Amino acid sequence: IGQAIARRITIITEDGTVIADNQAVPGEMENHRLRPEIITAAARGTGEDIRPSETLHTNLLYFAQKIQNANGQIHYLRLAVSLDKINHYLNGFRKAMVASALAAIFAASAIFFLYARNQTRPLTQLTRFAEAVRDGDLSQRLRIRQSGEIGTLSSALNSMADSLGRLIGQARHDHGQLVAMLSSLSEGVIATDTRQRVLLSNDAAKSLLNLDAAPVEGQMLWEVIFSKAILEAASQVLASHARRHLLISPIAGTHVQVTLCTFGASAKPQGLVIVLHDVTEATQYQELRKQFVANVSHELRTPLTAIAGFTETLRDGAINDPAVARKYLATIEKHAGQLSNLVNDLLELSRLESVPGLTKQTDVDIGQVIDKAVDPLLVAAQRKHQKLAVKVQHGLPRITVNPDYIQRAVSNLVDNAIKYTSEAGTISVHTHQVGSHLVIDVSDSGIGIPEQDQIRIFERFYRVDRSRSREMGGTGLGLSIVKHLVQVHDGTVEVTSQVGRGSTFSIRLPLTSPPA
Ligand code: ADP
Repeated sequence: IGQAIARRITIITEDGTVIADNQAVPGEMENHRLRPEIITAAARGTGEDIRPSETLHTNLLYFAQKIQNANGQIHYLRLAVSLDKINHYLNGFRKAMVASALAAIFAASAIFFLYARNQTRPLTQLTRFAEAVRDGDLSQRLRIRQSGEIGTLSSALNSMADSLGRLIGQARHDHGQLVAMLSSLSEGVIATDTRQRVLLSNDAAKSLLNLDAAPVEGQMLWEVIFSKAILEAASQVLASHARRHLLISPIAGTHVQVTLCTFGASAKPQGLVIVLHDVTEATQYQELRKQFVANVSHELRTPLTAIAGFTETLRDGAINDPAVARKYLATIEKHAGQLSNLVNDLLELSRLESVPGLTKQTDVDIGQVIDKAVDPLLVAAQRKHQKLAVKVQHGLPRITVNPDYIQRAVSNLVDNAIKYTSEAGTISVHTHQVGSHLVIDVSDSGIGIPEQDQIRIFERFYRVDRSRSREMGGTGLGLSIVKHLVQVHDGTVEVTSQVGRGSTFSIRLPLTSPPA
């Protein structure tokens, strides 16, 4: 048995005699009655002790058990085991303990880490979400499937992001509409806050004020606008909340009307709006109107003064001298004719200007229109012994025009040619096709027009030689009427001329159908 369990077994009688031992010879062994484990076993049934073995010279653990057989005889069964072995087992056990403790700590840490991560992950997601919203990214949504407060918070944040996205989208849409509306306005608009920081502006404002095209939003008004008048008015309007109007000229020759007012509640305005309106054309028109009225008055005054003067002279006695009276009456008649011409031309101009487009268009043979214009003037030409020839290119296409307008234009040009060409001169009207245009040239061998006047003769009342024109019954309106009549047909009228050699006026009219 000792071999099987690798232990030393000793059997000892009650008096301490060793009767059996598997690792020593019993006869050679001394009495064991006083061995501590035997003494204790004798008293308590079992006993143990640790001490070096005298026999085996090693530290042993002894364990003794008192045994009583059927005859009442007492023996002690003693087992001994080397402490080295126990220590070996204990070391193994300790190592196993440390290893399992470490494994337990590791497992506990891992479980704790996973638990903690599980608990903090939603918080990390919430933080990231909040940061994204702060940076303007509203596309993100929280995917926290967790009940409780974190779950409620995350779904509340998701709906907040939905509403914010909708609101921002609406605000962007509204702002886009406002910008589109502003940019389509011909009026310039600049809005600032109450501290004069520019909130928005449109392209018209920049071009009217001659500013850079670069965005000005966010800059102060005085960094953008250099008009002292506007800047002073801006401060006054913000202080007084009263609307103001100014007229400025930011670019030479332009006139801009500026209106400044506050916006928002009148008690507490939110800022300033500056509206710029280009009134250059209106101002120029006013100027032209004033000039025109002055010219008309002047043109009327001359014949009227003459008529009044000669009438007075006649009444004062000249009427009694038939020869003088006839001369004066002829002069009065001439001036009355001049007045009549003037009034007719003015009426014609005003009629033309009151009808914006082309009225009464018909498909006509241009040759017939020209004949109608020239025929009534043949007598005047003959009176001056002038040769007046009309030449119309063969096979010209028909043209859609207002025939009365073209007849009047040609008539005015031929009338001028007769007036400004000396006796026995030549005048020709030549009609031909150039590309997609029909050209009517009225040429004369007359006095010609100096180069510097050629560009201005189409202006109202402009005359190269005022007294000569008057002498001829001219009003200074004939060519401006021609220009008007031709322009309503999308045509042009030009002049080429040499002083002393003659002039050619060319009317160019677009043909309705392209040449075959
Ligand atoms: P007016 O009634 O004075 O002729 P128009 O408007 O017809 O007015 O012409 C303007 C001016 O152009 C004339 O006063 C004249 O000086 C000049 N002019 C017009 N046609 C001719 C021409 N064929 N030859 C020379 N000068 C011309």
